[in-house]
Order: sequence, then C-alpha cells, then structure tokens
Amino acid sequence: NPALTQFGEQMSHLTGVRAIMKDIIETLRAGEGREFINLSAGNPVILPEVEQLWRDCTAELLASPEYGEVVCRYGSSQGYQPLIEAVKQDFNRRYGLNLSDRNILITPGSQSLYFYAANAFAGRTTDGELKRMVMPLSPDYTGYGGISLVPEALLAYKPTLEIDEARHRFKYRPDFNQLAIDENTGCVIFSRPCNPTGNVLTDEELKKIADLGAPYDVPTIVDSAYAPPFPALNFTEMTPAFGGNIIHGLSLSKAGLPGERIGIAIADERAIQILESFQTNLCIHSPRYGQAIAARAIASGSLSEIAETVIRPHYQEKFVILESTLDASMPKDLPWFLHRGEGAIFAWLWLKDLPMSDWEFYQKLKEVGVIVVPGSTFFPGLREEWAHKHQCIRISLTASADELRTGMQRLAKMTESVYARA
Ligand code: PLP
Repeated sequence: NPALTQFGEQMSHLTGVRAIMKDIIETLRAGEGREFINLSAGNPVILPEVEQLWRDCTAELLASPEYGEVVCRYGSSQGYQPLIEAVKQDFNRRYGLNLSDRNILITPGSQSLYFYAANAFAGRTTDGELKRMVMPLSPDYTGYGGISLVPEALLAYKPTLEIDEARHRFKYRPDFNQLAIDENTGCVIFSRPCNPTGNVLTDEELKKIADLGAPYDVPTIVDSAYAPPFPALNFTEMTPAFGGNIIHGLSLSKAGLPGERIGIAIADERAIQILESFQTNLCIHSPRYGQAIAARAIASGSLSEIAETVIRPHYQEKFVILESTLDASMPKDLPWFLHRGEGAIFAWLWLKDLPMSDWEFYQKLKEVGVIVVPGSTFFPGLREEWAHKHQCIRISLTASADELRTGMQRLAKMTESVYARA
C-alpha cells in the first residue's frame, strides 16, 4: 500500500451518491430472484428517437472523409472546431449573443469542467488564503462534494422553504439574508434545473447571485446539465444566462450521450483560457468522435428539436404520474411535501418530522422492494446540522410508468406505517 498524499487521500474516497450506489448494487445482487423497483438511477432512459439521432450522425460521420481526421488525429485542447463552431452559431442565433470561438471550451463530460473550475478558482491561493466554493442553495448535485482538492473550501447555504401545506408541495429559495459572496469566495456553483430537487432558480435569483460575485470577479458557474436548449429538461420557463462573471456549463449526457463524455463551457475568454490550460495538463483534450457527432446534431438543429419534442415530454409525463399517484395514495394528514417539479429527471420528497433517518427509511423501502436514494447525500458543503437533511429522498423518473405507480403506492403505505409506529 503506497503512502498517500493529502490529495491522494482526498481523491481515493467515494463521495455522496457513489457510496450509496455500492449499497444499491449489492442489494440488487443479493436479492437474486427478487424483483426490485429501482428508482435510484441517474442514467438517462435510452429513448428510441434519441438513439436513432446518434446512429444517424455516426453513419454520416463514417461515410465522410472527415472520419480519419476525427479519430486518427490529436486535436486542439479547446475542442473540435466544427463543434465549437456549431455551439457558437446556435447560441448566438438562439439567445442573441455575440460569442466568438474563444468563449467556448469542450471538456470530457461536464463533471471534469467543474473539477477544473473548483480547483482553479477555489482552494488555497499562493498566499495560503482559503477561497471558498460557494453553493448558494443546499441541497444540490452530490458530485460537487468530491471535486475540490481542498474539501474545506466547500461551503453550502441552507435555503428558505416555501411551503404549500394544503397541496403538500414545497419549493426551496436561496436565502439572501444568509448568503455571503465576497473576497473570501473563489467561485459559486449551482445546478439549474437542480439535481436532486427539480428546482429551477428564477432568472432574477440567478442574476442576484451572479451580481453578488461581480464586484469581486467571482466566477458564477451555472451547471446547466438539464437546461434548454438541450436536453431541455425544464418544465417551467427559464432563460439561460451568459456574460459577465457567468460560466455556463452544458452537458450532452442527458441528451443521450453520457458515454461519450461531452461537456461545454461558455464563458469570458480569460476564464476559458484558464480552464483550457487545466485541461491540457490533465488530459490534452476531449475524445473527438463524440464531438464530431455532437457537432452534426447541433448544427442541423435536430438535437434541440428532439430535446423539446421527445426528451422533455418523456420526463414531464413521468413526473405527472408520480405526482398524481402520491396525491391519491399518500395519507392526507401527514406532513409530506413534494418539491415542485420544475425540471431534471428526479422527484424530491420531504417527509417532515420523519420518525427515523432518511437512511433507515431507505432500508424500510428496500423491504417492500423499492429502491430510492436517501437525501442526506445531497448536501455537500453544508456544515450546520439540519433535521431536514435527514428527512428527504430522491426518486428517479427514469423508471417506467407502472414502476412509478407501484413504487409510489408502496412508498405511501410505508410512510403511513412508519409515522403510525412513532
Ligand atoms: N451536473 C449535474 C447537475 C448532474 O446531474 C450531472 C450528472 O448526473 C453532472 C453535472 C455530470 O454530468 P456529465 O459529466 O456526464 O456531463
């Protein structure tokens, strides 16, 4: 066993949901013969129209003289030029922007983009000062928990809760009375739409957060893995924001290419240069095959069209099924609250005053053949204790309609039974 450095120690741990996944895989394996309804998955559904799009783009690429250039050659660190060009044209036209090539960077998945950003902008400065990576609204994406080489740099803020008691719904809002973004902040990061909650910060909230950081030149990273124009997994109106201190992060994973690892950063030239150098040192550049097919799908407009007509309706319908099943089967007199489903591929359920921890409730659900993800893994960087953190679960919308219905009915029964016993 080699002795590990501080970074080695830090990076050799599984964080957040990856640790839970181990338990889930073991459960599925041990339960041989037993049918589980697995509502834990983060892998997008393979939708036939989406798969066909990528097949068609691949066939075109194979038939084109470009093929050899794409797979038999190294490329530039910034990314494959036709993809950069396609993104530039599409975003300039769609959002009335004035992007040049220098505002765009292609990364191997957006996770790596956030890793570069977290470590380039937050952590220890050359003077030894600690710069924070601020998450303005906790819960948020569990993957942020492992991206900093300096874990103490992570700092998340508790939100305020907007509760509709009668309808059993709620929504998180950033708590601007607490949120501090100042000279001690290295960068700000949040997902919009949010994994795990399905929350979408409003255009005003986003602007307010970015404006707080602007006087200190604090990059505000808006993780748009579920945002329009692709995969367009927003069920509510939202406008992507660009310019100033905003680093807009895109991912093609939920648009059907998770295996090809394509992330895209859109930001000011200086930020792009920094992130690009980071990338050169780490891995030289993103694989080019995925970039070449993505360039075709974006340039033709097919990707955004399929996102709107196939991907978004698919998950939105699943959310409606989940919501109506819960409304019909959950006990009316218990304090359960479903987060407003504004986007992404998950539902987030809060069981207020749950008489056990989220982890114990997750175990209980396993007993009735339902697997969800306990919510406490989605609060990276939140330092204070908060009972709410142990009262939530994440439910994936990637299951079939029948699985969701049966799963929610079993969940409702179990909820009734655990509150009754308390
Ligand atoms: N950001 C969010 C909010 C996510 O949910 C995910 C993946 O689930 C990622 C980033 C990472 O995506 P990728 O690295 O595949 O682009």
